[in-house]
Amino acid sequence: MRERPSRLVLLGHPVAHSLSPALQNAALRSAGIPLQYEAIDVDGEHLAPLLSSLESQRAAGNVTVPHKESIARLCGECTPLVQRVGAANVFWVGSEGKLTCDNTDVAGFDHLVRGTLATSPARESVALLGAGGAASAALAAIEKWGEGGCEVALYNRNRVRAESLAERFPVVKRVTETVRDALRRASIVVNATSVGLYSDAHPAPLDEIDPCATVVDLVYRPGQTAWVREALSRGMKASDGLPMLVEQGALAFERWFGITAPRAVMRLAVTGT
Ligand code: NAP
Repeated sequence: MRERPSRLVLLGHPVAHSLSPALQNAALRSAGIPLQYEAIDVDGEHLAPLLSSLESQRAAGNVTVPHKESIARLCGECTPLVQRVGAANVFWVGSEGKLTCDNTDVAGFDHLVRGTLATSPARESVALLGAGGAASAALAAIEKWGEGGCEVALYNRNRVRAESLAERFPVVKRVTETVRDALRRASIVVNATSVGLYSDAHPAPLDEIDPCATVVDLVYRPGQTAWVREALSRGMKASDGLPMLVEQGALAFERWFGITAPRAVMRLAVTGT
C-alpha cells in the first residue's frame, strides 16, 4: 500500500485558467479522499525551492506550462517515458523518499486519438503542428502506432524548434516550411500549438485538409474550439483536447493513490456531460 500524499498541487505560470482543480477535486470528493487540490502560480526562479519543500512534505501533483521540461530535470527519479519525451506532467514522492515524475500526457493523447478515430491508429500519415511539450508527448505516442509504420510531417512557427524535435523522433519524416505543406496526404491532423486557446483562430485551413482525415485539437475550450466545431460541421471526425485532459488527469490520480480514477465524475466536472 503506498503512502497517501499529504498535499496535492498544480504548479504552473499562469495556472488560474486550468480545469485541473475542478477535475481533481471532483475525483477526490468522489473517492472520499480528504484533500484539496490547490493551484500554485510559481515562476521558474522559485520552482526548485518549492519542489524541495513539497518533497519534504510528501506532496504530489501536476505540472503545467512552462515547467514541464524543468521538472523533468529537477526530480530525483524520472520514468523512461519522461526521458523519451523530455517533459513530465505529474510527480509524487516515491518509496525511496525521492521526488519522482512521469508523463501521462502521452497516454492521454493516445486515448484522445483512439476515441476520435473510434478505432486503433494504423500506419497513419500525421500532420503535427507545434514543437513544444505537447507535440513531444504526441510523438512519443505516434511512434508506437501501426507497428512503428507511421509518418509525421511536422510544422512549427519556429523552425529550429521543429528541427530539434525531429532529430529526437525518427517518426518525423519531414519538417515543413508551411502549414499547408504539412497537411498534404495527412490522415490525421493534430494541433499541438496554443492557437485557438484564447481566440477562434484556426491552426490550419480546413479547406486544405482531406475531408476524410481526422482532426485532433489538443486545445480545449467550453463547447469545443472553433476549429473543431467547423470540422464537425463539415462532417469530419474531430475532437478537442478535453478527453485528453480527463485521461491524463485520471492516470495522474491513479499514480498518486493506486486506485482506479472515477473518470465519469471527472468528465462531468469539466464538461457537464
Ligand atoms: P508550449 O511548450 O508552450 O508550446 C507552444 C506551442 O504553440 C509551440 O509550438 C509554439 O510555437 C506554438 N504557438 C504558440 N503561439 C502560436 C501562434 N500564435 N502561432 C503559431 N504557433 C504558436 O506548450 P505545450 O505544452 O506544447 O501546449 C500546447 C497546447 O496544447 C496548449 O494550448 C495546451 O493547452 C495544449 N495541451 C493540452 C493538453 C490536454 O490535456 N488537452 C495537454 C497538454 C497541452 P513556437 O515554438 O514557434 O513558439
